[in-house]
Amino acid sequence: MLSHYIAGFIDKKALFPYSFEWYEKKGIRLKLGVEAKVIDRARKRLITSGGELNYNILVLATGAKAKEAVVEGKEYTKVLRTFEDAESIKDALEHEGRIIILGGGFIALELAGNLAKAGYDVKLVHRRNTFLGLDEELSEILKEKLENAGVKFYLNTNLLKADENGVLTDKGYIDGKLKVCAFGIVPNKEIAMRSGIHTGRGILIDEQFRTSAKDVYAIGDCAEYNGIICGTARASMEHARVLANLLREKEGRYNFEFRSLVFKFADFSIAVIGKIKGNGQWINENIKIFSSQGKILGAVIFNDLKTATKLEKLIRMGASLNELL
Ligand SMILES: Cc1cc2nc3c(=O)[nH]c(=O)nc-3n(C[C@H](O)[C@H](O)[C@H](O)COP(=O)(O)OP(=O)(O)OC[C@H]3O[C@@H](n4cnc5c(N)ncnc54)[C@H](O)[C@@H]3O)c2cc1C
Repeated sequence: MLSHYIAGFIDKKALFPYSFEWYEKKGIRLKLGVEAKVIDRARKRLITSGGELNYNILVLATGAKAKEAVVEGKEYTKVLRTFEDAESIKDALEHEGRIIILGGGFIALELAGNLAKAGYDVKLVHRRNTFLGLDEELSEILKEKLENAGVKFYLNTNLLKADENGVLTDKGYIDGKLKVCAFGIVPNKEIAMRSGIHTGRGILIDEQFRTSAKDVYAIGDCAEYNGIICGTARASMEHARVLANLLREKEGRYNFEFRSLVFKFADFSIAVIGKIKGNGQWINENIKIFSSQGKILGAVIFNDLKTATKLEKLIRMGASLNELL
């Protein structure tokens, strides 16, 4: 909800939905302002900035940080990941009234859509002409919808340099003091590395969220399964639910290969489900289905989250195109 907060659609309170009583009632001992430093695996103790803690099971859910630009003048660009980042962008925006957003992922698009809707001057610079793994046709629709909200696009445009007054790209100079990079995430894997746990881009896990250390698990944005870092709140919460079941010796399986994302940009929503490569077919003006040999593999749905939920179930069950039409 950080971009909604920056746009002024919600207040600060809405960003912190859980009270201290909520944690207490759930039996969670909350330790705020405490950094987990290293895991003493032999003694099964977690060393933190506030002392040591014993564990039977340890779950790493350290999240990720925003990837920064690697160009000259990157100090003139901001990123959006934390509440402090959001405050800093909000302050600058209220002063400047305009923003350059660099990137074409869901954070860039959501921020652009919300800020344009709030009446700010928004320019979005992206190195490709497609977004979110969508094909050109769907990307064009997404772009048109955001353009209608007021976003100005600079596509197939690469950032070369930033300075105080704007950015230099391979297509020319774009003016704007406030610049936000949304180039993806870097998993927080340092504690695992310090503790001798195997890492790649993130903390390496198997299909049951087990790391290379006994009784140590990893979930959410910090975890990497078979080259996949899920990177959404939706996935992170599902990881937590499945792991909780597994730890209670109940059945549970998370399908890392199955993509299911829902985004809201300005006044419209888009759901991206399953595999969306190859030939697609529109079954109505809002739904494009992707199939192979009569089997539905994926779908993209605009502005209809109810149907998106139903379709996701069908696709997960391996439904055929005939069943749908
Ligand atoms: C602007 C924005 C919009 C987004 N919109 C969506 C959306 O619409 N839908 C969606 O599904 N996802 C969205 N996401 C992504 C979503 O926020 C993340 O995928 C999700 O928060 C990941 O959850 P997590 O618990 O793995 O990590 P995080 O939420 O990053 O939490 C990790 C926590 O661990 C703490 N931590 C890290 N290291 C240590 C340590 N050593 N000791 C103690 N604490 C530590 C961090 O400070 C942090 O509080 C958005 C993200 C952003 C930035």
